[in-house]
Amino acid sequence: MRILFLFSAFFIQNLILGQVLPFVELTEDKNELVLDIRYATSDNFTGTRLYDCGRCFLHPTVAKALQRAAEDFKKQGYKIILFDCYRPISIQQKLWAKVPDARYVTPPAKGSMHNRGAAIDISLQEIKSKKELDMGTPYDFFGKEAYLDYQGLSAVASKNRKILHTTLMKYGFKPIRTEWWHFSFSGSGATISEWNWTCP
Ligand SMILES: [Zn+2]
Repeated sequence: MRILFLFSAFFIQNLILGQVLPFVELTEDKNELVLDIRYATSDNFTGTRLYDCGRCFLHPTVAKALQRAAEDFKKQGYKIILFDCYRPISIQQKLWAKVPDARYVTPPAKGSMHNRGAAIDISLQEIKSKKELDMGTPYDFFGKEAYLDYQGLSAVASKNRKILHTTLMKYGFKPIRTEWWHFSFSGSGATISEWNWTCP
C-alpha cells in the first residue's frame, strides 16, 4: 500500500508538472545508498563536468530490482555506491564526441542501456567502516585490469567483485566483460530517452 502511495504521489507530482516521467528517482536518504555521480564532477575519464548536478533516475522495474539487491547487500554489511544511472542521450553524444571509441563508449546512434534508465555503474561501501571496497581498479578504468576475467587481482579485490556480481545477478542484473562496475537490466522494455533532470 505504501509503495502504491509513493508511486501515485510520484505520478501526480509529474502530472502537475505537465509530464509523466518514465523514471523513478533514487536518493541517498530514501534508498539508503551513496550517490557519487562522477559525470556531475570533473573527476571522470573525460576530465570535464557533464551533468549540472548529480541525480539518479532509473526505469521503475530496474529501480525496484536494485532496491531488492540493496536490501540483500545491507544484510551482508554493505551499502551500494552509484556512479551513474540514467544518462540522457545528449550526454551520450558528448561522451562520444570526447571518446569516439566503441570499446569505451556506446555510440549514441545505438544508445547505451544507461540512456534507457536500465543500467547502473555501481560499487560497494562497507557499512561499518564507511570505506569503499577495493575492486582492483578505480571506476572508469579502461584496461584489462577492469575486465571480469582478469587473473591478476588480489584475493581481497577478487572476493569483493564476487560479492558485487553474485548478488546483483540474483536480481536480474547482467555484467559486461570489460567493466566490473557496469550492470544492465534487460527485459524492462525501457526505451532511449532525451529527458533531462532539473537542478536546484
Ligand atoms: Zn555503465
